[in-house]
Amino acid sequence: MKKRTYQIILLLLIIGIISIRLFYQKPNLYRKVDYLLGTYVEVAIYQKPKRARILADSTFNLMRKYEKILSSHIPNSEVYNINHSDRNSIKISSETSDLIRKSEEISKLTSGAFDITVGKICNRCDFVENFYPNQAEIKELLPYVDYRKIRVSNDSLYKESKGIEIDLGGIAKGYIIDKAIEFLRDEEIDKGFINVGGDMFLLDNNNPDKWKIGIQHPRDKGEIFATISVNNKSVVTSGDYERYFIKDGMRYHHIINPKTGMPANDLVSVTVIADKACLADALSTAVFVMGLENGLNLIDSIPDIDAFIIWEKNDKLNYKMSDGFDRYLIDVK
Ligand code: ADP
Ligand code: MG
Repeated sequence: MKKRTYQIILLLLIIGIISIRLFYQKPNLYRKVDYLLGTYVEVAIYQKPKRARILADSTFNLMRKYEKILSSHIPNSEVYNINHSDRNSIKISSETSDLIRKSEEISKLTSGAFDITVGKICNRCDFVENFYPNQAEIKELLPYVDYRKIRVSNDSLYKESKGIEIDLGGIAKGYIIDKAIEFLRDEEIDKGFINVGGDMFLLDNNNPDKWKIGIQHPRDKGEIFATISVNNKSVVTSGDYERYFIKDGMRYHHIINPKTGMPANDLVSVTVIADKACLADALSTAVFVMGLENGLNLIDSIPDIDAFIIWEKNDKLNYKMSDGFDRYLIDVK
């Protein structure tokens, strides 16, 4: 009898331990943050912790693989080699050629407002040391800025002039977010998000509740300018407040008008929502250059792409949205 009681207690204990373990193995939102692509990146996966951890690590590895190819700062990346080669024709991988082709499409769509050959100027800028090339230097660099002077064919990039340099900083983050989301979808993850320094993709296949996120206040760090809700979309913002310095009353920042070689100063923030992060990324940069009227006209002409645009006049912020943006907006502060 005594032995039996002991057995029952033991059994209950085992059941207890198993159910506690099961409880802890229930899916919840696992989040991992790491530094890559020049910013903080967060991968969030709704899944049992053990599997989520493995998938998050694989997602980071995948993103690092692309960074090593596409970054202009990492020595011997493909982009680095393109920029430092003394040849007109350089061998490139299918990933790089894919992204350069996509960039060319966006350049055509935006009448050259988006142009990866601004690399010639970007690579001279230093926003840590507060350096922007002067007018004389820009005059020398501008002839190298023209997307029509590069071409991709088969496995090579052809540069009309050896001095041409490219910078994929306006589109690569989006491209890499898309690759990460593709990977998670293939692993049958239904819910989660990727956040690359504020550029995001929000995934949720089952829940009717949408993700609620904020558009950053462009002049008040830490504050939110507007709140939106989205699902299975990418939200990307281009702003003049991340990498910049102010000299003689002029704001020098990292989004450059390819026609003038100078920072685009009509707008202060452009948020684009699209199905693909790659498109949202490139278009947010392009609309920033195009300005309010041309930018909004372009966005309104493309189905399923929306934008929220902020500009500054007499120290006051104003905003305008594309026709379809209403469906995402919760409130504006
Ligand atoms: P962030 O990198 O802060 O998310 P963007 O997506 O707007 O912001 O990208 C800005 C980057 O894009 C710059 O750092 C530069 O590498 C590149 N860039 C700047 N101007 C242009 C342009 N007109 N067309 C294409 N790329 C650009
Ligand atoms: Mg961009």
